[in-house]
Amino acid sequence: MSPRARPDAPHPHLTSAYCKGCGRCVDACPKHCIEPGTAIDPLSGLVPVTLDLEACTACGLCYEACPEPFGLHPDDEQHAWELSDPKEHFGPRRESSAPVAVDRPSRLIPLPSDLAPLIIKGTYASAIGALLAGCRHFFGYPITPSTEGAELMAKVLPGLEGVFVQACSEVATINHMYGCGGAGLRTMTFTSSPGLSLMLEGVSYMIGAEVPGVIVNIMRGGPGLGNIGPAQSDIRLVCRGLGHGNTHAIVLAPANPQEMLDLTMLAFDLAFAYRNPVVVLGDGYLGQVTGKVALPDHLVEPGLPAWAVYGDREHRRNLISSIELGEADLEARNLELQAKYDRMTANEQRSDSFRCEDAEVLLLAANTPARMAKAAVQRLRAQGVKAGLFRPVTLWPFPMDALAALLPQARRLMVVEASLGQLEDELRLALSHAGVAHPPIEHVQHTGGVLPQPDEIVQAVLRQEGAR
Ligand code: SF4
Ligand code: SF4
Repeated sequence: MSPRARPDAPHPHLTSAYCKGCGRCVDACPKHCIEPGTAIDPLSGLVPVTLDLEACTACGLCYEACPEPFGLHPDDEQHAWELSDPKEHFGPRRESSAPVAVDRPSRLIPLPSDLAPLIIKGTYASAIGALLAGCRHFFGYPITPSTEGAELMAKVLPGLEGVFVQACSEVATINHMYGCGGAGLRTMTFTSSPGLSLMLEGVSYMIGAEVPGVIVNIMRGGPGLGNIGPAQSDIRLVCRGLGHGNTHAIVLAPANPQEMLDLTMLAFDLAFAYRNPVVVLGDGYLGQVTGKVALPDHLVEPGLPAWAVYGDREHRRNLISSIELGEADLEARNLELQAKYDRMTANEQRSDSFRCEDAEVLLLAANTPARMAKAAVQRLRAQGVKAGLFRPVTLWPFPMDALAALLPQARRLMVVEASLGQLEDELRLALSHAGVAHPPIEHVQHTGGVLPQPDEIVQAVLRQEGAR
């Protein structure tokens, strides 16, 4: 008999549903009475150990080693470990299987009208826009040139009873956002091009499950790690490639720090209005450049939507998932999503124009290249060329309706961009779908962190004007 043998002591008893199969008891037993299991427990889905107590000395080492309070325990206390009826603790179950949820609307709180403007960089402006929009949950993984936005959130959110989590990766980031947005809370991240690439599976899940969230992507040069210079390297990705399946998200393209704030605020409204992620697409220059930023006339106290999987009684029966195993069901689901994309296309096209009223030479640009193109328009006008700038503020949906109105008077259309044709491709696709007649399309392009400059845009226009 072992020195620890206790003839009158209880033998172990296993409640299989509470055993996670960790094996600590297997290692603890000096008599080899416990073996790793081979069968899945139908209640837990785990594989519990098996007991053969013929050689058991009731030493108790196994149940002392068990970390599960209801797993392995002394046999004489078996009655205390039986599964109890939840009704005894929580009362009778509700009979209705229909979700019973409460929709608590957001509230706008006025801000004083005499607040002085801020002089801040683009990423800070975006972070402040998110805070004013009621975002209190930030998840992210630092990446240049977007990190300052996350840094500001890390400083500010704890003081606002918010949550800042530096995730272990971009994959973790987007899945934290999936859970947080699914709980009906306003959540965001800052990232840059390679980081967004890593997030795409999660973005697809969020779109499939109709979970809102805001992704601020400060684009840098690619492919691969590329560099940290300003670029428009992700236009194709965010307009055409947000994960697998039928995926789209509204893409907002700010051109200055003021719009970084304004469009980030708008992004939260759109994300919840359509239950869909929204991308705020900046570039490395815009993220870092400092500018004057006026504060809005209100901030948002977020509500809680009826669909949220929030941890309270009212929302307890809600379920959010992107899985749809039946083929016909998934097709119907995709058609519903497509109808939502159609509503976005009809209602959310946004653009800006400068000197377009009589423009014969129409420049088209977004983000920082639009600032260069605007300077070029001013110089061309000074030389008697009727030039104008059309600036898509939504890259998806492309603001085709506003552009189509300008095309009949335009004899030239020139795309200015910091990528090798990604914006031009969006333009050509939109023109093709709309079936709109247009003048020949020319371009001024740079890539790799190089921005188009006003002088070269002017020269590109004048070369052809001279040949007329
Ligand atoms: S009580 Fe002791 S001998 Fe019996 S199974 Fe547990 S560890 Fe093994
Ligand atoms: S120690 Fe407990 S939880 Fe771990 S395998 Fe043994 S009985 Fe199961």
